[in-house]
Parts: sequence; structure tokens; C-alpha cells
Amino acid sequence: MAVLDHISSQEAMALENKYGAQNYHPLPVVLSKGEGVYVWDVEGKKYYDFLSAYSSLNQGHCHPKIVQAMTDQAQRLTLTSRAFYNDMLGRYEKYATQYFGFDKMLPMNSGAEAVETALKLCRKWAYEVKGIDLNKAEIIVCKNNFHGRTTTIISFSNDPVARKNFGPYTDGFIKIEYDNLAELEAVLSTNPNVAGFMAEPIQGEAGVYVPSEGYLAKAKALCEKYNVLFIADEVQTGIARTGKLLAVDHENVKPDVLILGKALSGGLYPVSAVMADNEIMNVIQPGNHGSTFGGNPIAAAVAIAALEVVKEENLAENADYLGKIFRAEMNKYIETSSIVNLVRGKGLLNAIVINDDEDSDTAWNICLALRDNGLLAKPTHGNIIRFAPPLVMTEEQLLDCVSIITKTLKEFEE
Ligand SMILES: *Cc1c(COP(=O)(O)O)cnc(C)c1O
Repeated sequence: MAVLDHISSQEAMALENKYGAQNYHPLPVVLSKGEGVYVWDVEGKKYYDFLSAYSSLNQGHCHPKIVQAMTDQAQRLTLTSRAFYNDMLGRYEKYATQYFGFDKMLPMNSGAEAVETALKLCRKWAYEVKGIDLNKAEIIVCKNNFHGRTTTIISFSNDPVARKNFGPYTDGFIKIEYDNLAELEAVLSTNPNVAGFMAEPIQGEAGVYVPSEGYLAKAKALCEKYNVLFIADEVQTGIARTGKLLAVDHENVKPDVLILGKALSGGLYPVSAVMADNEIMNVIQPGNHGSTFGGNPIAAAVAIAALEVVKEENLAENADYLGKIFRAEMNKYIETSSIVNLVRGKGLLNAIVINDDEDSDTAWNICLALRDNGLLAKPTHGNIIRFAPPLVMTEEQLLDCVSIITKTLKEFEE
């Protein structure tokens, strides 16, 4: 069968189910085209994308400027490996470091790889700069975190589904409660071997948990006090999603180590990065770390274009503006709703909490009904539905989506 022969939804799902490892439980819809805030299934039905590939498609599907950058570069030079210099990487590194305000960056591909890179960087800094005894460094992380899927990262997850039967686990992590400064200071003030504190500025996968106002700034101040690196995992929250370029910008915090991925490429290509200033990044020397594809010319061209789009189209301002409207509209609905308990979020990273048990299938069934009504979203952790549309959405489109969502929810009211 030629790749481009027509295939029905049923056939496509049957193929994935038979030949693909079953590590996901997708909503039953088979997409074959995307443009801006819309996607189409193979039968031609059109939907609003309200997930954006977990906030990778902030710039919208198939953004013409990013597609152009990618196809131009793909016809010129795609990969050199880092065995040789290429004419795109340095330009990208200069552009991106100035864009985010750091001295240096280390390019990788997936978000999990960037998290791994940040952890390695933090440990090496601990031994070579902070002076922690060899192999004693510890990194504080938060309960209910999501930082990716490698063996080290799942070692400090507390999601049993992500962890079970994947041991033995990596040592050197201390788990504390999210949004709890007292617990953070208790560990920092008693444990001289702490090298870093890594957190998501908003816990995305956990269900869009927004910490108390001031949490990030105070956590950063505590890290400074105890000479510990503040590592912000902005893979999901970064690049305009929450209404600022970075979610830490809401509290004017500059992390010591910044982790980016997802929307860094506008969803065209796996591009991730770690950023830090020289006194930290310079502990990495030739041979210490690497990636065959990390920093390849296509990634560099795509990421520059993707970041330009964020500024040119004022995506942070738009996310901030539309997010306020979205939460206000949802709150109006919730006043008289028995099926939705609350809406929370920042910018266009939001979630509603369904009034049912964690293990009920109400949220899933609502997502199926939303699909039937032309909007795609996915439950996260049982009874929570995340709403994260592309940031190129217009106000008119957003209000159309609000009416689809409220109309659908009404079908589930008692
Ligand atoms: C998605 C995500 C990751 C992992 O990114 P992958 O590209 O899937 O490896 C890491 N951290 C956060 C906060 C994420 O949302």
C-alpha cells in the first residue's frame, strides 16, 4: 500500500493497535491535516485542536513561515552531527540565547533529553563549582511532577503507571510537596548536598496546578540563599503558553537553568534546549555530553522561525488576553453547573475539574462528546480535562469553542 493511499479511520486505528506498542490510549479520531487552530480527520471532519500536542503547537498547525524555513533548510543541509560545525547552529544559538537572556545553550531533541541534560549539568556543577563530595549530590523535585520518560526521570516520578516494573531506579533525588516553601527550606537548610531544585512553573500533566502567587520567586530566593540551582522545566509552560514568554516571567524570576522543548519548534520537529549562564554551562567540556541530532541545521532553522513567529504575532499577549476570557466564560458556566467543579490555569494553559471520581470515565466521555461536536481535548489524570489550544486563535474562534464546550457539558448535567 502506498503511503498516500486513502485509509479510513477504522483501518488506521486497527493498524496502530495491531502493529504499534500500546503505550498510549488515544482518543478515537484519526487526523490527516492541520492548519492553524484546526485539524481534519481522514473522513474530512474539521475540529478545533484544544490540546496542541501538549502545548507544542503554540504557533498553530503547519505555520507557513516555519514550514518554509524547514523545507528550505531540508533542501540545503539536514544533518552534519556535531563532529563538524554547520552554518546554522551558531546563528540559532546566538538568536535563542539573546531571546531568552542566557549566555549559552545546549541543544537536544526531546524534552526528556533536555531534562536529562539539565540534571547532568546540575550534578557536574555541584562537584566542580559548589564542591559537593563526589556522588553525593542530590536534586530536589516535586511530587506529581512530569519531566519525561527516561529511566532516571521516572525514578523521581510518583505516578505508579509510569514507574512500576521499570526499576532499579536512579538515586539522588528528594521529593517534596509542590507549592510548599516550608518543606523546600527544611530540606535546603539541613542538607548540604543539595545541588538543585527542579520544578514546573505550573504542573501541566498533573492537571494544570498553578502554584500560589510568589511561590516561584520565593523558591528562587531560597535556592540563592543555599547556593542551589533553580531549574525551571518550561517544556510545556514556556514559549508564550501562559501569557508571558516564560511562566517564570510572571514572577520576574530568572532560572539558573532553563529547559525548553515542545513549542520551541512550533510542533514541526523535535527541538529542545537547556540554557544557562557561563559559570554553570562551562562545566560541560568536549565529550561530556552529546546528541547526534541535537543542534542539527533543520532544528536550528525551524526553531529560529518558530521563535520569530511568537514575537511577530504577539502570541504571549494573545494567550494572556484569550485566557482571561476563557476562564471568565467557564466560571460563568460553572456557577450553575453540577458537572464542572472549577476552571484553573494561566494564559491558554487551562483545565476544568469534573465533578466525579478520579477513576470515573466521565471526563473521557465528555472528550468523546467534544470530539463529536468538533473540538479535541484529552483528560489528564482521570477527572481533569486540559484545554490548551494553539495561541494563534482569534477571539471569535475562542468564543465559538466556549460555546461548543458549554453545549457539550450541558449534555452531562444531571
Ligand atoms: C512533555 C514534557 C516533557 C517531556 O518532553 P518529551 O518531548 O515528551 O520528552 C518534560 N517536561 C515537561 C514539563 C513536559 O510537559
